[in-house]
Amino acid sequence: MDIELARAWVRGIAEAVERDRERLGELDAAIGDGDHGENMHRGFAAAVEAVDKLTAETVGQVLTKTGTTLVSRVGGASGPLYGSAFRAAGKALAAESAEPEDVGAALSAALEEVRRLGGAQAGDKTMVDAFAPAVEAFESTDTAASGEGAADAAEEGLRATEPMQARKGRASYLGERSIGHLDPGAASTALIFRALAEAEQG
Ligand code: ADP
Ligand code: MG
Ligand code: MG
Repeated sequence: MDIELARAWVRGIAEAVERDRERLGELDAAIGDGDHGENMHRGFAAAVEAVDKLTAETVGQVLTKTGTTLVSRVGGASGPLYGSAFRAAGKALAAESAEPEDVGAALSAALEEVRRLGGAQAGDKTMVDAFAPAVEAFESTDTAASGEGAADAAEEGLRATEPMQARKGRASYLGERSIGHLDPGAASTALIFRALAEAEQG
């Protein structure tokens, strides 16, 4: 990954989130407060603006700027979680370009930060259920196209959230009534990894 690929990834996320804004909102309306599409759109539109203005010398600076923008612009649970994740990934990539294994380690650091901050375990019906399998898949394919397998794994992780009962975040207030719906944060995580795969393909 180089600086331009990192920028293209952030732009790709913003485009995907804009396209799927309504769907993310509907998923969140079913088991939360309905603002996930708006939260993600606001955050990533601001992140694109910020990284386009940035004169970056490392891949990490692009990701860190994305993270700080998400933290400051998104009020919901997802803002601090994704924001801290991007900051952790940025911190791990202090070079002009990064090999797939370095990107894998950075994604793993990002996931650890989400787990540490949010306290969610696998099966709690959160973004972690898409994020964790995606990182595992990314790290097991040591090529320039690791994003493809990670995106597939994130999408599979998203589908697996449907029968789960939420144990973290707003959806947990619903108890058993959260069963039978996809988790909105897992859905946005799947978009983030698909955007990575597409950015890698150029
Ligand atoms: P809010 O719930 O504050 O309105 P969003 O709607 O933007 O925030 O984001 C909701 C998503 O955030 C959930 O679908 C879930 O994936 C994720 N989430 C919420 N709490 C946690 C947590 N403690 N750990 C991991 N992910 C979480
Ligand atoms: Mg919400
Ligand atoms: Mg909210």
